[in-house]
Formats: sequence, structure tokens, C-alpha cells
Amino acid sequence: MTATEATNKYFHRAADLLKLDEHQRHFLITPYREIKVECSFIKDDGTLATYVGFRIQHDNSRGPMKGGIRFHPQVDLDEVVALASLMTWKTAVVDLPYGGAKGGIAVDPKALTPGELQRLTRTFVQKIHDVIGPNTDVPAPDMGTNAQVMAWILDEYAKFHGYTTGVVTGKPIELGGSLGRDSATGRGLLYAAECLFADGGRKVSDFTYAIQGFGNVGSWAAKLIHEAGGKVVAVSDVTGATRNPAGLDVPALAEYQAQSKSVSGFPGGTPFPAEELLFQSVDVLVPAALGGVLTEANAGRVRAKYVLEGANHPTDFEADAILTAMGVVMLPDIYANAGGVTVSYFEWVQNVQAYRWDEEHVNRELKKTMAKAFADIKAVKVQHGCDWRTAAFTLAVARVGKAAMMRGL
Ligand code: GLU
Repeated sequence: MTATEATNKYFHRAADLLKLDEHQRHFLITPYREIKVECSFIKDDGTLATYVGFRIQHDNSRGPMKGGIRFHPQVDLDEVVALASLMTWKTAVVDLPYGGAKGGIAVDPKALTPGELQRLTRTFVQKIHDVIGPNTDVPAPDMGTNAQVMAWILDEYAKFHGYTTGVVTGKPIELGGSLGRDSATGRGLLYAAECLFADGGRKVSDFTYAIQGFGNVGSWAAKLIHEAGGKVVAVSDVTGATRNPAGLDVPALAEYQAQSKSVSGFPGGTPFPAEELLFQSVDVLVPAALGGVLTEANAGRVRAKYVLEGANHPTDFEADAILTAMGVVMLPDIYANAGGVTVSYFEWVQNVQAYRWDEEHVNRELKKTMAKAFADIKAVKVQHGCDWRTAAFTLAVARVGKAAMMRGL
């Protein structure tokens, strides 16, 4: 099953509970606009390079479309459509005044020099600048992109439309970025975990954790869970994995990884094959890397009691059914990793007001947003007697559907 088919299955499950008719479903599922562009530039060695870039604008019923831009070799149209639709449901779950979008270029950013990466980014913006903007579609970082890439987008957009800070979020602080944006997805995941565990009378510090991925999401999640007293016993990245049943010293691991670009040789842990990370004997599994990692073939090997989805779409539709039947409690991506887009919204709010919040204020508002969304999802879960993912989708689809119908056609 493709990522889009899986996302749409979750949508239909929610639409069934909401008793939406055929026409409403078709309207809500169909992307507003799909853009595919050629991105060509001259490499440092003088040769011509051409990549394919996408921007999928899924829905704008609740406000400007919002979502990241991903640079990764596996980017394709189906995946970007699925991720754009997940953004529509994600912004609705946390009740941001946004719709959903996603973009990407099928490229390995590590294979390009900084100069080449800049030229690629600018070429992409030249192709899409007319359909993005602070009131239409606001890009942000995702896998393989960062604050520097956002700064290039801001600068290239300015050549056509004038300096407009709110056109993109996840910017460097010097260019209107928000304090707390870098840590926001990991911090949001921590707050989501606090809400989930408190609901069962437990705390983050009661559990052991395995975290797949040590990029922006995984590394912040690991640091903040560790700070909150949770025992992080296993971590992987693209190069390998490390574990320590007594608990990894996460700040020391982060320092080691920053220098050696790999977690596996960390002296405070024992290396093991990264493919085994998902099957560690822990209470909580946090997939925080690629999508589609939990599959029909491997879900049965998961030993964790909880899965907190830091990545987008880490669990295949079939794996979701297997894990649910096993009694594994899953907090879905559209809630668990919504901290990133929530602080993107705070950044955009600061930009349009030409004002700055301090970090404490950002984190406090993030916590409030995650707690409110948890309570909203919980109410739907109790009403329908369903799992967290179905409840989150049902909440989101109801909000988007209502907004769309009120606006009329
Ligand atoms: N790329 C992030 C996500 O998937 C953040 C999107 C944003 O901040 O707009 O949620």
C-alpha cells in the first residue's frame, strides 16, 4: 500500500465515524494543487544537474497552507501527497489556523556542496514563488533541510515580492526565526508523552525508551526525555546504533555524535545493528526518522508498549492494525510530532506582528497547545471508543470538513 493510500484509509475511517458522504470525502481528500517542477543548476565542476521538485498544496479551508520542504533521495509524488494531507490533519488536530502542504526535491543533500545546495534551493523557489506566500502557503524545514535553506528561500522570494519574513518558518533567529523552533518537534513530543502518561497516572520518568533517528526530531526528543528523567537505552542514526541498558548519557552522546557524525562508536554504549532498534526491549519506542519503518513484516517483533510517532507516517497501515491488536498504544504523527508546526505558527505570528517572544513564552504556549489537543483527542476517543490515531483523524477531519462547508463552494 502506498503512503497516500494508507493516509486515505485513516481518513475514511474517520469519515465513517463522522458519516461523511461520498462527495464530501472526495472533496476533502483531493489535493487543492499539485506542482511538479524541473530544478536545474550548474554544479561546481561546470556540469548541468537537473532534479525534480514538488509542492503539494492539500487544503486551505482553515487558512494558509503549511508544511515542510524535504530534500531526500526517496522523495516522490505519492509520498509528498501523503505528507501534504497529513499536514492538513496535523494543523487541524492542534487547531492552528492553517491548511496543509508539503514539498520536496528528490536529491541527496549530502552529495551537494553548500553552493550547489543554495543554487538548487533558489531554482526551486524561482519555480514556485507565485504560489507561496504568508497568506497562501508557508514552507518550513523537513528532512534534509534546515534554517539555512529557509534563509535562501526567504532571500529568493524577496527578489520577486519584497522582503517578507512570514513566507517561510524555521528561519535563523537573525532573520525572524523563533526561539524554541529548533527544539519544537522534540519538545512537543515530550509534552505529548507527558499528557498520555499522566492520563494513565504515570510519568515520563517511569519508562525506558528507544529512539530511531538522531536528527532534529530524535536528538531533541532524546535530550528532553532524558532531562525529564526518562531512561533512553537505545538510539540509532543512519550510520548505526548504540545501547546501554543502564541508560545512555544523552548529552554526552549528542556531543559525541556532533563530532564523529555517528552514534555507533559512542564509548558510553555498545554498538548494535540499526535495523534492530525497533525491536528493543523497552517501554516506549520513538520512530523519529524515515516513514514506513514499521511494516506488516516487522510489526510483530515490536516489544514496546507505546509508540510515539516523531516521524511522519512511520507506521504502515497494516502495521498499525497489527500493533493495535497487540495492545500497543500509539500516539499518531499528526499529534505526536505537531510541536514543530505549532512553533512554526508562533514564528509566523511573531513575523506578521513584527514582534518577538522569549523562549519561555514559546515553550509555555507549545505546552498549552499540546495539552489542549490531547484533551480534544481524548474526548473524541471516549465518544467513539476508538484508538488514538482514529480519534485524532476524526477530530481533524471534522474541523476541516466543517470549515470547508461553512466557506461554501
Ligand atoms: N516539517 C514539519 C512537519 O512535518 C514542520 C512543518 C512546518 O513547520 O510547517 O510537521
